[in-house]
Amino acid sequence: MDEHSELTDPAEQRATRRGSLLTFGGLLAGAITGGAAALGETDAADAAGAGPAAVASGLLTCVLAPEQMEGPYFTPRDRVRRDVTERKPGVPLALGLAVVDASRCKPIKNAAVDIWQCDALGVYSGFADQDTEGQTYLRGIQRTDARGVARFRTIYPGWYPGRTVHIHVRVFLGGNIAHTGQLYFPEQVTDAVMKRAPYSTRPDRDQTNEGDFIFRNGGSRSMLRVAKSGRGYVGAITMGVLRS
Ligand code: FE
Repeated sequence: MDEHSELTDPAEQRATRRGSLLTFGGLLAGAITGGAAALGETDAADAAGAGPAAVASGLLTCVLAPEQMEGPYFTPRDRVRRDVTERKPGVPLALGLAVVDASRCKPIKNAAVDIWQCDALGVYSGFADQDTEGQTYLRGIQRTDARGVARFRTIYPGWYPGRTVHIHVRVFLGGNIAHTGQLYFPEQVTDAVMKRAPYSTRPDRDQTNEGDFIFRNGGSRSMLRVAKSGRGYVGAITMGVLRS
């Protein structure tokens, strides 16, 4: 795959820009650094700013976040499941992805959040050009809970040529696509992960957030807040959408 492979369908790129997505960008960096080692999956949601207290505090500001292209490896067949790993080797990653109604800054319950990503060696499931036709690993859908949070158990993604490390995400409200985006990781965390097996078998990743041609268009507002948890990490973000 080359770096242009996610630019092959201009019509789709336009389509993914439908709807507006807001996020609470960069607001709680401090919240996750304090006591990060003890941060569990549930706490990750609060760190994401999804908790009612965070909303009520008035400290949050709604910031428009970028729609980003879905890329070539979306499949509409993703299964509803929290654990998407299918025993794929890699550094454990627990995700808390919060969806809020940006106009009211209130969590949205029952939104469907769909994620897909490559494995530790940079390969996506389900595609002949990846030699993974019929496989389903590292793809899944979860509904948001009463606090607006969808949780996943996955592994830290690897990398593939031309792209910085990322996870693809779609948010559906009432069956309609409300957001298509990509989630990113702090470089220093990725550097640490890439030193571990099995990532370390491919040591020379060729792209960082700064140089990535998709990240460049607002990716800094799609950064996961990542904290260490046991032998892995937890990652959290709050995404806001406008109900139509
Ligand atoms: Fe991708």
